[in-house]
Amino acid sequence: MNNLHRYARLAAVTAAMAACFSFPAFAAERSDDVTGPGVQMEQAAEEENPAEDAEPEKGELLGVFTTTGYCNCEKCSGGHALTYSGTVPTAKHTISADLNQYPIGTKLWIDGTVYTVEDMGSSVKGNWIDIFYGSHEEALEHGMRSQEVYAVIE
Ligand SMILES: [Zn+2]
Repeated sequence: MNNLHRYARLAAVTAAMAACFSFPAFAAERSDDVTGPGVQMEQAAEEENPAEDAEPEKGELLGVFTTTGYCNCEKCSGGHALTYSGTVPTAKHTISADLNQYPIGTKLWIDGTVYTVEDMGSSVKGNWIDIFYGSHEEALEHGMRSQEVYAVIE
């Protein structure tokens, strides 16, 4: 009987303390929402939108290139997890090019996708582009193609 009573009191005190702590925290969160991070997030979103509007456009035709596919497997990349430029290779983004012609960071338009030169390869010379894929199957599927490669207007 005595123990039960003591437990009940303890529970009441704990609840009261929890209430004390939770109210100010709740109030602080509310005021932050009105004046702080919420407003900043909206501003950040507005800043991102114009960048999306100014999407890179297809520029002049650079030529008909030989394109091949590769992935980050042992066979394609010799176990290198990162590109030559140190980025994590990404499908529909990363390509390997002859850096003497198209240095790291050059954007190229190929078949509706804007790629960025991030990598190089010993066999990738002249009008040759190696396109990164997320899997070896997709890279093989690409095979060897002749594709029109365009510059990108930013
Ligand atoms: Zn592969």
